[in-house]
Amino acid sequence: MEPTMSPLLWQRQRDSNILGPKSVMATCRSCITRHQTKVKYKHTKKTHLMALGICLLSGIFSFSIPYYLNLEAGTITHLLALIIYIIGAFCSCCIPYYLNSSESVTHYCPACGAFIGTYIN
Ligand SMILES: [Zn+2]
Repeated sequence: MEPTMSPLLWQRQRDSNILGPKSVMATCRSCITRHQTKVKYKHTKKTHLMALGICLLSGIFSFSIPYYLNLEAGTITHLLALIIYIIGAFCSCCIPYYLNSSESVTHYCPACGAFIGTYIN
């Protein structure tokens, strides 16, 4: 495929690819044209660590709810605290997986599918 721009302009535009958390205009090194990139989001270690942290914190908070309600300490209160703990921890640990802020973003050329770069939050 013949380049659609001069080599000097191509060099400047290739070097000026500034990737971000969303699709951007970028120059593809493979087909040497500028396109709006196609993006794919991927969970990172940061996402999993945030999920674990939120799970533990919300679990501890929700575990203490029956005791703040001044329920009589007994088997039922402990069982209720355990159930609230499991539900609270399970529901809250999903939050980071719905936030794009903790994911890496990989940019691809929509024309040829070539990898352009990765943006890591
Ligand atoms: Zn391309």
